[in-house]
Amino acid sequence: MRGSTIIPENIRWPAGLQRAIDTFLSLSGTLIVASDFDGVLAPLVDDPSQSRPLEASASSLAAIQHGQDGRIQVALVSGRRINELAQLAAPTPGMRLYGTHGAESGIISDSGELNARSTQLTEQQEAELTEVSSLAHLLADSARGAWVEHKDTSIVLHTRLASSVDTERIERELRSFARTRNVHTMIGHDVTEISATGASKGASVTALRAELGAVGVLYLGDDVTDETVFAVLNGPDIGIKVGPGETAATYRVENPHEVGFVLSYIADKVNADL
Ligand SMILES: [Mg+2]
Repeated sequence: MRGSTIIPENIRWPAGLQRAIDTFLSLSGTLIVASDFDGVLAPLVDDPSQSRPLEASASSLAAIQHGQDGRIQVALVSGRRINELAQLAAPTPGMRLYGTHGAESGIISDSGELNARSTQLTEQQEAELTEVSSLAHLLADSARGAWVEHKDTSIVLHTRLASSVDTERIERELRSFARTRNVHTMIGHDVTEISATGASKGASVTALRAELGAVGVLYLGDDVTDETVFAVLNGPDIGIKVGPGETAATYRVENPHEVGFVLSYIADKVNADL
């Protein structure tokens, strides 16, 4: 049993969020609590290999997954490759993981291992990706600080360390090329990702909801790609946007520390009812 979390008195809950969570948890049936990783559970850092979830969030998600006889399914949904996500996010048995925006999916076994599967590309999709990759490398070579990351089903142009002028130029060129091909463009914080599959975070959460017959979904995200999830929420579902920017989510918190308070509140409620 967890000890009660101390939520600072000066934490300002977004209007209505606490009540929405209480209502959500009172629904009878399976619930999904799902979250993006970077910028939500883990503060954003310049070196992505150094990302770590805040302790309050990691321990709360574990407590939510293990509370109430598995009535609540925890899912981590990220643009990262699934193996990387599993290494960094400290997921516990039973949690679902979605990597590369859902092109990879998996579950953490009782022994703590990741059982994952990945979308297989057709020859045509492989060819499209190779073309996009060639251009992305040319563009990255023309801009100091830019680099290309290869995933199984997509390529990513990273511009976090490039100048804003270069970033604007190479992102625009890559995106306009992508529009002439049968590929999907996703835009995030300092990244343009071109995917050969139509996978999206929203499609992943929708598929999980259908698979489990879940009656409610709570989702936390900070990226443009998380909007694909906020867009498919309805009814008693709860969407929480983290940080600034336009969003379809109903609620907003400022940063990963506030996410920690929200998840701690849920974990305490879930386990207090045991
Ligand atoms: Mg994020």
